Amino acid sequence: MSDKTPPARSHGRKTIRPTLTPRDLMEPDPELARAWRAQVITLFPEAFPGALGLSLTGKALKEGRWQLNTVPLRAFGEGKHRNVDDTPAGGGPGMVLRADVMGAAIETARVTQHAGAPLIYLSPRGRPFTQDMARRLSECPGATLICGRFEGLDQRVIDHFDIAEVSIGDYVLTGGELAAQVMLDSIVRLLPGVLGNTESADEESFSDGRLEHPQYTRPAEWQGQPIPQVLLSGNHGAIAAWRRAQSDALTRERRPDLWQALETGQD
Ligand code: SAH
Repeated sequence: MSDKTPPARSHGRKTIRPTLTPRDLMEPDPELARAWRAQVITLFPEAFPGALGLSLTGKALKEGRWQLNTVPLRAFGEGKHRNVDDTPAGGGPGMVLRADVMGAAIETARVTQHAGAPLIYLSPRGRPFTQDMARRLSECPGATLICGRFEGLDQRVIDHFDIAEVSIGDYVLTGGELAAQVMLDSIVRLLPGVLGNTESADEESFSDGRLEHPQYTRPAEWQGQPIPQVLLSGNHGAIAAWRRAQSDALTRERRPDLWQALETGQD
């Protein structure tokens, strides 16, 4: 890895060696000691940074606004073949990740994680992930994400470490790696300095419990469709009122659950 690491470059803070390659195993960079710390326990560390290495999240990773450490589960496997899984107790199809193997990986990860960083298992049985959870996690010092594979994780390790289970939606993936990237993307973009001044998170979908209004840009007319006149009027009050009405109408139509929560004043 070291021969691929670009030379040190300053980004206006202490010298940070920009690299998109997540460090395997746990060698946190002392230069990044205070950065938001993502740890990902996975059988497939090569899946990272994946899409997180692109665009705003990739730039922020290079700039040291957050850091990404992968913990390769295979390294904690049993025996010559480094086995990490075994057949389900009670029978049934597939394989289950062993509690002792995952337990050892978690113990190792813990040593180098910030205090107060939650331990999360990506799981279709978990609490549904929301923008509010992303915001709260962005205010933590980091998070340790556990990616399952096969039939999932032995329940005892979940109970022992009191791991929070989080789902990215009501569908089943092959593994937790894509789910971890989804969560990290939505968290990292909320960290200070990741979105530029022009890309504010304040007015996006879900930030006020509503879906965002439609967006338009040039050309002024396309396929016979003009941009709504009010957006070209320069009347900021009228534009804000139009956007709010669109946002309300979309939310009411597409997400009655969100609309109901707004009307009853909960969220
Ligand atoms: N047998 C399990 C599914 C295992 S899928 C069940 O029926 O609940 C394999 C792994 O993919 C899981 O351990 C989990 O880490 C990940 N995964 C699958 N779907 C997911 C989802 N909707 N959200 C988050 N992680 C998911």
